[in-house]
Amino acid sequence: MIERIPQATAKRLPLYYRTLQHLYSLGKNRISSSEFSQSVQIDSATIRRDLSYLGALGKKGYGYDVGHLINFLRGFLNQDEVTEVILIGVGNLGTALLNYNFHKNNNTRIIRAYDIDEAKIGKKIADTPIYHLDDLLNGDNKHIPAAILTVPASAAQIVADKLVLTGIRGILNFTPVRLSLPDHILIHHIDLSVELQSMVYLLKNYPLNPLDKGGE
Ligand code: ATP
Repeated sequence: MIERIPQATAKRLPLYYRTLQHLYSLGKNRISSSEFSQSVQIDSATIRRDLSYLGALGKKGYGYDVGHLINFLRGFLNQDEVTEVILIGVGNLGTALLNYNFHKNNNTRIIRAYDIDEAKIGKKIADTPIYHLDDLLNGDNKHIPAAILTVPASAAQIVADKLVLTGIRGILNFTPVRLSLPDHILIHHIDLSVELQSMVYLLKNYPLNPLDKGGE
């Protein structure tokens, strides 16, 4: 079903879900479309269009029922099913992600990590075991849809090529390297240094409100 809605919409739905969960935890049961728009920083016409693809429409003059929308999105995003992912590269960032392990987003778990540093192999971080990269292709990973890549830039492409052999379909790439992989692999690139740098640049150059000046 999710393939049939526009990709841009599919990318925004988890943000809606997470924001609504947060609002609900603050005791909010009902939200106007303009309040919701402000919370997610997306204009209300786009939100309305996104939700209309799912058949979830707010009522005019009422806005959205938060609990109802959460339930709806939970079903749609398959939040009741746990998705297991793996992580490669247990350095500073990899360790932080293992400790974080998406607790608040209860449908995704890092179940195994891989590294080549013998000092780390066999250890656990936040209950997640660390294996040698040589064990990546041993069969256990056939059902794993995605991997998080936090190796140094110099190892990124070679490790990504190996990941493809496991049958993985998505890579969350935290390295600065633009990976070159077969078309069927979905790559989401998160370069934290670039994000921070570009934000600092916008703050310096458009001190009043970067987003109003076409910052996004
Ligand atoms: P970070 O970049 O996360 O701050 P760091 O500076 O501690 O980490 P890096 O040199 O970036 O360390 O390496 C990150 C991790 O990736 C380390 O644990 C390192 O052992 C591991 N690593 C390096 N090469 C590979 C590889 N080819 N396959 C798997 N893991 C690797």
